[in-house]
Order: sequence, then C-alpha cells, then structure tokens
Amino acid sequence: MDADLVIIGSGAGGGTLARALARSGLSILILERGPYLPREKVNWDAETLFRTQRYHTTEQWRDRKGNLFHPVTGYHVGGNTKFYGAAVLRRREVDFGTRLHERGATVAWPITYHDLKTHYDTAETWYYAHGLKGADPTEPDRGPYPYPPMDHEPYIATVAENLERLGLHPFPLPLAINRVAQALPDSPCIRCDTCDGFPCLVHAKGDSEISAVRPALAHDNVRLETGIRVRRLVTDAAGSHIMAVDADGPNGSRRITARMFVLSAGAVNSAALLLASANERHPMGLGNGSDHVGRNYMCHLNTVCIGIDPRRRNPTVFQKTIGCNDFYNDSGDPEFPYPLGHIQNLGKLTPAILKAQRPMIPRWLTAWAAHHSCDWWLSTEDLADPENRVTLDRDGVIRISYRANNEAAHRRLVSRWRSILRHLGYPFIFTQRMGIEAVAHQVGTLRFGNDPKASVLDLQCRAHEIDNLYVVDGSFMPSIAAVNPSLTIMANALRIAPVIAARFSDGTAA
Ligand SMILES: Cc1cc2nc3c(=O)[nH]c(=O)nc-3n(C[C@H](O)[C@H](O)[C@H](O)COP(=O)(O)OP(=O)(O)OC[C@H]3O[C@@H](n4cnc5c(N)ncnc54)[C@H](O)[C@@H]3O)c2cc1C
Ligand code: SF4
Repeated sequence: MDADLVIIGSGAGGGTLARALARSGLSILILERGPYLPREKVNWDAETLFRTQRYHTTEQWRDRKGNLFHPVTGYHVGGNTKFYGAAVLRRREVDFGTRLHERGATVAWPITYHDLKTHYDTAETWYYAHGLKGADPTEPDRGPYPYPPMDHEPYIATVAENLERLGLHPFPLPLAINRVAQALPDSPCIRCDTCDGFPCLVHAKGDSEISAVRPALAHDNVRLETGIRVRRLVTDAAGSHIMAVDADGPNGSRRITARMFVLSAGAVNSAALLLASANERHPMGLGNGSDHVGRNYMCHLNTVCIGIDPRRRNPTVFQKTIGCNDFYNDSGDPEFPYPLGHIQNLGKLTPAILKAQRPMIPRWLTAWAAHHSCDWWLSTEDLADPENRVTLDRDGVIRISYRANNEAAHRRLVSRWRSILRHLGYPFIFTQRMGIEAVAHQVGTLRFGNDPKASVLDLQCRAHEIDNLYVVDGSFMPSIAAVNPSLTIMANALRIAPVIAARFSDGTAA
C-alpha cells in the first residue's frame, strides 16, 4: 500500500484537505500533475502571462461544436489558486436554497450555510482573509474577519464615495493576501500591480500552495509527488472500491495503491477522469449510474468592464479593493425581480497587460487607456443545465458542451454598471464577455445530493456508488451562486476532512 489516503490534485480543494488531515497521522500522498510554479522574475511579467502564456497548459479542449480552444488554466502545486485574484467571498445564505432567476430556479443544496460557517472561519484564517464585517449588505451571518480590510488607494476611495452618493453600498472586497497588520514593515505583500491573474513572486498570496500544501508537508506523514498525472482510477472486481490509480510521471507509468482516494483535479478534469475510468461495472464512467458525471457544468457569465475618463489619470497600483452586491438579490426593477450578480474591481489594467492582451492596438493607445481606466469584473450566476457538460471525445480530448443561460440577467447587470460608470464620469466604457476558454470558475460536474439518481456524490461528497472515493474540488456544487467559488471549495474540504478521518478511526475505511 503506497498510502492510507491518496489526494489527486493540490488546488483549493485537495490542498486544503491535506492540511486539514495532516495532524490525523494518516499516511497521505498528494499526487499533483504539475510542478511547483517556478519563482522567477517573469512571474510578474504581463507578456509572459497573457501573451506567451508560459504557465498555462498547452493542451486543447473542444467546445460543443468541436472547435479546439486553449483553456485558460494551468497545472501546478496550488492549482488555479496560484493565479487567482484572491477574492474570497462566502456564499450568501440564500445561495444554499432555491433561487428564482428569470431563466429558472437553482437547485437547493442539501446543506445550509450554517453547515459551512465554522469551516469558512477556518479557511479565512488559513488563507489570510482581509475584510470588513458588516460592510456588505448581503453578507451572511458571520464574525469579524481575521485581518482588517485592504485599504482603498485614494482614487478608488473616491470611486467608493461616489458609488455611495448614488445610493450604492460598495464594500472592501475580502482578499486572501498576507498583508496582515498593514503597517508592519515585514508584511510580505508589497501591494503590487501584478496580482490578479499572476502568481505571487514573493509568496504573499494566500493560495493553496502557501496556505495549505506547504503547512501540510511540514508533517512527516504527508507527502507530495509532483509531475504525476493520474490517468485512471481502478476499482475492485465488484466495482465498489477504488484499489489504485494509474498515473504517468517522470519515470513512466505506475500504479499507486491506497485505502481511500480523494479526487480534486478541478471540476473539468475530475469529471473527465471518472469518464476515462469506465470499466465493466461502471460502463458509463466511474460512479456514473445516474448519468450525471460531467453534467451541469457551470462557470459564471463573466464580463470585463473598463471605464475610461480622459480627464483623470488613475494612479492606483493595487486596485482590486471594491466589491458591490447591490444587485445580488434583485435588480431593483419591479419588471425584472431577479438577481443580477456580483461586481468587483479587477486588478489594475496596466499598459503592459493591455498591450499583451491586445497586441494590435498601438502602444500609445494602450498606455493612454490603461492610465485613465478603472476596471471591473461582473459575474452572474449561470444555472445548472444537464446539457452543459464535460465529455471525452474518442481521441481522449475533453469537450465542454456549454450554452450560457441567464443571459438577460447578465445583460442587465452590464448595462446597469455601464450607466453607473457614466454617472461617475466615465464617458468611454468598454466591455468584453468571457468565452468558453474562461474556465476559471468551473464547478458543478459531480454534484452532491441525497438522491443517487440525480447526483454523483452523497452529502459527505462520497461517490454514491464507490465506498472509498471522495471529491472535494469545485465539482460538488449543485449551483454556483454569483460570488467567486474558492472559499466555498476550501470550506467544504474542511467539512469533509473529519468525515474521512472518522472512516479510518471507526474501521470503515477499505
Ligand atoms: C486567473 C484566475 C483568477 C481567479 N480568481 C479567483 C478569485 O479571485 N476568487 C476565487 O474564489 N476564485 C478565483 N479563481 C478560481 C479558483 O482558482 C478556482 O475556483 C479554484 O482554484 C478551484 O479549486 P479546485 O480545487 O476545484 O481546482 P484547482 O485549484 O484547479 O486544483 C486542481 C488541481 O488538480 C491538478 N490536476 C488536474 N488533473 C490532474 C490529474 N489528472 N492528476 C493529478 N493532478 C491533477 C491540477 O494541476 C490542480 O493542481 C480564479 C481562477 C483563475 C484561473
Ligand atoms: S499584491 Fe501582494 S499578494 Fe498580490 S502579487 Fe503583489 S505582493 Fe503578492
């Protein structure tokens, strides 16, 4: 036996679970497809990130029509949290129930906010969440944040005041950044302009490598093997237990055995792995008697919105400090009484970022635009749809068949924000909707639930059909809500950790 517990993937879910179980004394082996992300000067180079895409996977996936595309994702220790914008928001209490949208209702979760509340507390502490209790009118019942909010720089403070004058309630965006007491000279975060979408060169971002995997590895019973790509999970003859995984690594292929397995490869890859592991007992893919594996893929409707005021330079360095949930529960328009979504600042667009993303635009114009812009990220909840799904083509290529839904709500959110920005004095406003390649917020493909016919995982995120297989990445979510998903993935992994530990102590582990 190679370990008591094998965890596949070291991102938000897998990394957090490893840390949560590190003190259990179990022998834990984390298998990570990627390497440690190298610390190098170009970590903070826009050209490297957005043009040459040095840290993204080179693999291609297909969309529903069969067109190949490059997914904006990468494989490293810490998973996609290495690049995340570190916005760490809890789901609202209403997000756990059925929410009525213009395009239908969301699926209620089989647990409530209160089942995750203390786990959110722990996740916020581990990941250095900075925020201000009481500032976000939609925030769920909670105690104070472990760290004070990140200050707005003067230009952004003025934007926040102006939003308040319009009757809105901007709040300090909760951020997972190790700035601790902000005045301390040894605070590792230097508040740079290459945070959102970049890895942190000085290791100050609360990502899963820094906040979870490294602390887990401080315990002798936890091991990490990098460059190990799991290809397939192998069951016993009855199909009720995973015996091993087959993986490719630097020394070729090998079989790795354990008593218990946790899949946490990200919502797309985890579903693809279960499909690729089909066998006689599970002809449609492991744990797929319900035919739900890969279905209900969600990723938000996302739009970048850039307001340009030619009369005012925006000298902000670290811009991602405002959140706004004024349209989270309701549009405010009686003719459209549905949620619109969540708004937050983007990291500041710099001339280098804009040039790397829009190489055809003359350098002087990208520089001018970036110096005069204020930049936003708008997301709306997309609804679970069984036809929005991850499948594997015959040649082994992942296919994401996805048609965005809830479009009217997103259009309203964008148009509302445009008019607000106009009121704030931005005559030029540009928006760009994210496409199929934007898989950052992927969730939903292995939903949990009480009914084995309508879900893949049970309440404890154990596969209904496989006794020793748990899943702790974003795939468990039956609905996505409009806030960013990571903190909920981390909190859920913390919820599942004692369940797994108990299986070993009560003798029910394989
Ligand atoms: C640019 C960007 C910005 C983002 N900003 C935010 C934000 O501000 N706030 C927020 O909440 N979320 C944000 N996200 C999303 C966030 O990163 C994800 O929600 C989160 O990382 C998902 O966690 P996970 O555990 O499901 O998967 P991941 O963190 O992606 O982890 C999956 C892990 O599995 C590994 N793996 C995959 N396949 C295999 C295999 N076959 N064998 C072994 N290992 C495998 C991967 O290498 C990876 O380490 C952002 C994402 C991106 C890309
Ligand atoms: S802002 Fe802070 S946490 Fe973010 S990349 Fe810069 S130094 Fe790192």
